[in-house]
Amino acid sequence: MARYRGAVCRLCRRENQKLFLKGQRCYSNKCSVDKRPYPPGQQGEGGASRRRPSDYGAQLREKQKLRNAYGLLERPFRRYVAAAERAEGVTGEVLLQLLERRLDNVVYRAGFASSRAQARQLVSHNHFTVNGHRVNIPSYQVRVNDVIRVQDKSKQAGPFKELRSAGAPVPEWLSVDLPNLSVTVAALPVREQIAADVDEQQVVEFYSR
Ligand code: SF4
Repeated sequence: MARYRGAVCRLCRRENQKLFLKGQRCYSNKCSVDKRPYPPGQQGEGGASRRRPSDYGAQLREKQKLRNAYGLLERPFRRYVAAAERAEGVTGEVLLQLLERRLDNVVYRAGFASSRAQARQLVSHNHFTVNGHRVNIPSYQVRVNDVIRVQDKSKQAGPFKELRSAGAPVPEWLSVDLPNLSVTVAALPVREQIAADVDEQQVVEFYSR
């Protein structure tokens, strides 16, 4: 499974925005965006000034931001855009919904992992079931009423012993049963319930050029 293997904090600094790629560190005073709020490669805030981006440049940045936040490479991300274009509804919102419905994202949003990268690894390592069936595909699309559970034999594993000491709140479309380490998809997410500081319309326009 291909993924970006570089320094992830650079991705946030490039956008000058927290993408929450490193778990607890993102919520601490060690966050690189807070400590060095200028793009990588510059020598400090007095480095090269940033020109106002062109329309294309602005759309590119929004696309990169969204793609990197969900930890996807270009080809799979493009497939989500194509699927959103084929579906009914507002393309940008459908795109966000498809990304949110990934099993690794649900595990992350539910608080069972501190980052999407960790969630992806936990899913790949067979720690979860969906409706009683083992699923180890991070891109698996959850549906309404799906129940995702930590496998019994995994419950005493390190990542699940101490959960959610800090981090983002669980979105309303998920119903988490923390003592039993399970989460139910109560509804599909609507735009207001998706914590993504991105202009999804710009992303759609980037691909429709
Ligand atoms: Fe981004 Fe987290 Fe690194 Fe901060 S600590 S720059 S939010 S990945």
